[in-house]
Amino acid sequence: MNISIIGSGYVGLVTGACFAELGNKVICVDNDNKKIEDLKKGIIPIYEPGLKELVANNTKKKRLIFTSSIKDAVKESEVIFIAVGTPTLNNGEADLTGIENVARNIAINMTGYRLIVEKSTVPVETGEWVKHTILNYIKHKIKFDVASNPEFLREGSAINDFMHPDRIVIGVESKKARDKLVNLYKPLNASLVITNIKSAELIKHASNAYLATKISFINAISKICDKVDADVLEVAQGMGLDQRIGLSFLNAGAGYGGSCFPKDLDAFITISEKLGYNFELLKAVKNINEEQKNYVLKKIKDNLWILKDKTIGVLGLSFKPNTDDIRNASSLNIIKALGLEGARIRVYDPQAIQKAKEALQKDKPVVAGVKFCKDSYEVCRGSDCLLIATEWNEFKELDFVKVKKLLKRPLIIDGRNIYDPKMLKKLGFTYIGVGRGNG
Ligand code: NAD
Repeated sequence: MNISIIGSGYVGLVTGACFAELGNKVICVDNDNKKIEDLKKGIIPIYEPGLKELVANNTKKKRLIFTSSIKDAVKESEVIFIAVGTPTLNNGEADLTGIENVARNIAINMTGYRLIVEKSTVPVETGEWVKHTILNYIKHKIKFDVASNPEFLREGSAINDFMHPDRIVIGVESKKARDKLVNLYKPLNASLVITNIKSAELIKHASNAYLATKISFINAISKICDKVDADVLEVAQGMGLDQRIGLSFLNAGAGYGGSCFPKDLDAFITISEKLGYNFELLKAVKNINEEQKNYVLKKIKDNLWILKDKTIGVLGLSFKPNTDDIRNASSLNIIKALGLEGARIRVYDPQAIQKAKEALQKDKPVVAGVKFCKDSYEVCRGSDCLLIATEWNEFKELDFVKVKKLLKRPLIIDGRNIYDPKMLKKLGFTYIGVGRGNG
């Protein structure tokens, strides 16, 4: 099939490359000219395992091309996916400017039947708006369909998630749209959930809200664990083995971040309010998450007392492992708060240093006190404490004898609960986890 993907970010680029790999002819579009020029040269703007090779392979086979012209893409493609960002406005609403802009551009450039598919995460009823927008701007009497096909890939394992999804959600209102999308996804041999557009839109928001709820739930439990000297890992294991609950997303820590959960929760709370429902549960989920970042900060302060002129070593910047995405990363919140108290910070991340540098540039007083290090051991050298902010695998395999020698004080604040407290205590460390007792 001839497909276009408008918006070539984490979702658009992975989706485009994977559809090309499945044998389709794909045009990836973006309004960021530099991104498109880089992609044409084989430079991938994000770190995602396997993506560089996939893009190179499909570009070579001429199944994947890049352009900044929506017009050309719309002309060539029967199915057009919208994968632009849907960030949060100050009032919590999703900013749908990009979606509207793309819908308008599709409308004025359509030359025949097109299926326009929402891939971005959008509030329920956005499909209706996309339809109206196209009808309002279309030049000739051309038939089209709108569909919703929310994406569930996870950064860090995006290609595998796309190729082996738990399910594919397809929200459609015509047989033609349904047949096209079913056909497109046929090679994946995955479970399909076929619904109307509004249900599909809601499935995405409801799923992310539910996962965020699980995280905040276990984070709340972690506080009780600290108070009574219980271990949240044991509690989560005991709960999660119950098949009705499941083990995933029961990891207590420094709170969730990233470009999706915080934004999607805000958008879901806001759209619910607009529709006349006060989603108190999700408001609590959000508050618990905010508190959790402060909770880790408090653990540092409780152990170091005065932060001014202390050196804090921080391992991990990305919002989760195996990605360079630092959007809403808990690590950056904590670093900023430490910096404002006058602490010096030494940080290392396997992939996200460049993006973190750019983000922290805006915070001049903070960034002045931050040293970006070449590895974990350089972070430890002369630090008064070591904070684990992201659970990259390489942090799990440190040489702790070396770490202890390098630290000024053998204090580990494990914001992601990746270490065995007994092992570290035996080696002479003071170990503070999240909900591991004695917190
Ligand atoms: P992103 O910021 O990485 O990519 C968005 C891209 O769209 C950017 O390259 C931007 O330049 C481009 N863009 C914006 N406006 C445009 C326009 N008018 N015309 C052409 N290009 C335009 O964002 P992302 O992480 O890929 O997320 C995209 C959507 O997918 C969001 O709605 C997000 O919630 C959803 N989503 C993201 C993930 C994830 O893990 N990142 C997972 C599932 C769903």
